[in-house]
Amino acid sequence: MQSIDNYNFNGKKAFVRVDFNVPLNADMQITDDTRMQKALPTLKKILADGGSVIIGSHLGRPKKGPEDKFSLKHIVPHLAELLGQEVKFAADCKGPVAEEAAAALKPGEVLVLENLRFYAEEEGKPRGLAEDASDEEKAAAKKAVKASQKEFTKDLAKLADCYVNDAFGTAHRAHASTALIADLFDTNDKMFGYLMQKEVDAVGKVLTTAVKPVTAIIGGSKVSSKITIIENLLSKVDNLLIVGGMAFTFAKAMGGNIGSSLCEDEMLDTAKAVMAKAKELGVNLVLPVDCIAADKFDNNAATQVSSDMDIPEGWMGLDLGPESCVLMDDVIKTSKTILWNGPAGVFEFENFQTGTKTIALAIADATANGAFSLIGGGDSVAAINAFHLADKVSYVSTGGGALLEMIEGKDLPGVKAIRG
Ligand code: AMP
Repeated sequence: MQSIDNYNFNGKKAFVRVDFNVPLNADMQITDDTRMQKALPTLKKILADGGSVIIGSHLGRPKKGPEDKFSLKHIVPHLAELLGQEVKFAADCKGPVAEEAAAALKPGEVLVLENLRFYAEEEGKPRGLAEDASDEEKAAAKKAVKASQKEFTKDLAKLADCYVNDAFGTAHRAHASTALIADLFDTNDKMFGYLMQKEVDAVGKVLTTAVKPVTAIIGGSKVSSKITIIENLLSKVDNLLIVGGMAFTFAKAMGGNIGSSLCEDEMLDTAKAVMAKAKELGVNLVLPVDCIAADKFDNNAATQVSSDMDIPEGWMGLDLGPESCVLMDDVIKTSKTILWNGPAGVFEFENFQTGTKTIALAIADATANGAFSLIGGGDSVAAINAFHLADKVSYVSTGGGALLEMIEGKDLPGVKAIRG
């Protein structure tokens, strides 16, 4: 597999798929440029080598062709600022406009193509179907867009000499620019960008080459949304810590009274199966033993410490209790590989942050002692940032859905397209 570090971009035009799907305010101003910042090392390497960069990205979810509010022209001035050089813009991602702009590009220059998703072919999903379309009509429309997707992909690929995928956030999508396009380049001319490489390496360090003891902390609201992850992790970890709202489904499955805490009754059998599987595999499954119970779902609710197995009627567990915090802290601190996804309580309420903060601090401690720690998924990333601990862990993933699918054990189309 080709690596960006070994590739000499001198005199080459690189099609770089990035994730510049940044949030914009009503004045089309970027409110968070993290995704652009993360792509800079890749862009700078290509430019420093004497290559030129052709940037492809999506922005938002356009569903009916070009729309000004989804135009990538809005990000061009900021990219120019970040790179400290002029950035050109092609008002189409394919066809004569894009081809002429790409052909005119000189070494060291940067071109941003218009939003790839202005074409239905990027995602390969039909658009504009009548709501009452029949199954046959839907199938025909799907077939048509899949057929024209091939041409679309070729049109993108012919703009460049090599392909770099640095859009981890969309790596779980088999889209034209994230996966299909890779087939049109020689093995030696396609590679991950630095961000993508880091993400893939981080997951590899947790799932494939992990140093023991390996601990996964899975939290959040629902067992159902995390069950595939839990099932995949069971064969890979030494300790599995289940926290957050989903822990109450486990408590109920064990016969506990959980008051009005979050619970998915349809997942009780699944929770039992997870516990049995953990036992069979010798995985140390750690569940909270106590919680901070509240009399309502409110930051200013009355609270009491309660056993997870005996929460009074009408009360709900919104955070880890003190004993659980000690329990989790002990396991995390002695771990050498740590994966964290999902908060341990309703951390959005200041009064119910203790459990989530305890976990974040324990991970930071373990990392300082040489553990490798990967934090991923929207809410745990938000939590680690809110506690200003992002630089105290080994890696904070940028890809929500993509990371979760990798942890579920799926082969992401964007990764497979390059790695094979
Ligand atoms: P998820 O999207 O499944 O990762 O869940 C994240 C959400 O779970 C956050 O918004 C938390 O507030 C919520 N959460 C965590 N613990 C609890 C709890 N004990 N009760 C209710 N919601 C919770």
